[in-house]
Amino acid sequence: MTSQAPGSPPHSIVVLAGGVGGAKYLLGVRRWAQQHGAEVTAIVNTGDDATMHGLRVCPDLDSVMYTLAGTHDPERGWGQVGESWVVGEELAEYGAGSTWFSLGDKDIATHLVRTQMLDAGYPLSDVTAALCTRWPIGVRLLPMSDQRVETHAIAEVPAQDGPPVQRALHFQEWWVRYRAQLPTEGFVQVGLEHARPGPGVLEAIGEADLVLVAPSNPVVSIGTILGLQAIRDAVRATDAPVVGTAPLIGGSPLRGMADTCLRIVGVEPTALAVGAHYGARSGDGVLDGWLVAPGDGGSIEGVEVAEAPLLMSDPDATAAMVDAAVRLAGLADG
Ligand code: GDP
Ligand code: CA
Repeated sequence: MTSQAPGSPPHSIVVLAGGVGGAKYLLGVRRWAQQHGAEVTAIVNTGDDATMHGLRVCPDLDSVMYTLAGTHDPERGWGQVGESWVVGEELAEYGAGSTWFSLGDKDIATHLVRTQMLDAGYPLSDVTAALCTRWPIGVRLLPMSDQRVETHAIAEVPAQDGPPVQRALHFQEWWVRYRAQLPTEGFVQVGLEHARPGPGVLEAIGEADLVLVAPSNPVVSIGTILGLQAIRDAVRATDAPVVGTAPLIGGSPLRGMADTCLRIVGVEPTALAVGAHYGARSGDGVLDGWLVAPGDGGSIEGVEVAEAPLLMSDPDATAAMVDAAVRLAGLADG
């Protein structure tokens, strides 16, 4: 049930989000919400989560938390600003370092607190809320699930001796170590079939006035969240309009290798093809509206497509994208 009359600005906004792209988008959603007195709940992908040196690392949740807290490193794109790397250097001295996954000292503190709380029996949702009490991030951050779901790529992995072997490897290794360059057959979300949506996730979607799909990776961020059947069902069933924003401009991702992920699952890396891949709620998909960059427009059956500048250069530019989504949803003032 929507809690407000159709055609009036949304009071409660739910955003489905991945890491860096999702975080940047949330800066704009938060700005828009502050200007309009709305509340924001972010439902964040946890399929990239991994255990490194015994520590539970949640890259997308942390990207969102650090970015909204203003403590992220905008140059590097992940982790916190002003990092030091002493622990990693010490690990390397023991021959126990990683050549492809670096953890900064500040970041390690986050993972230590998280791991300690998880080990004490707290669910990830509680741990996330506890970590967020450090900063007034102004957005309710919900992991998509408290259960472990881990994205793996099925790829031809170089072997120490002999030819490459086809096997499953963790998404982080595939993405960070091999830069998504291995011949890859597909992705599997290990644990997805047993995972349930995190506390508050279904309620937030059901009670939202507007659901936004961030311009995040459609395959390994949004695809993983919507891979949870109960979340997908809730998005399809909510009374709120559902509007997505394309993560590709003129056929290229702004950052990262979303185009590679799309080709692997057989989707052309264009804004329109991604919108069609998400599909219309009136059919068997999740969208009512789809925002694409100027020049990327066209038609998708059952989905209203609109064009707007989609470069998230700063929170104001991104808030203007959110405004375009609100208009497309038919929820703008006047
Ligand atoms: P990750 O989990 O850190 O990979 O981040 P996400 O999945 O949340 O977002 C990655 C996506 O954000 C990439 O596919 C980028 O194309 C997209 N992206 C990054 N910057 C921009 C931008 O300024 N505009 C748009 N439309 N998309 C962007
Ligand atoms: Ca991610």
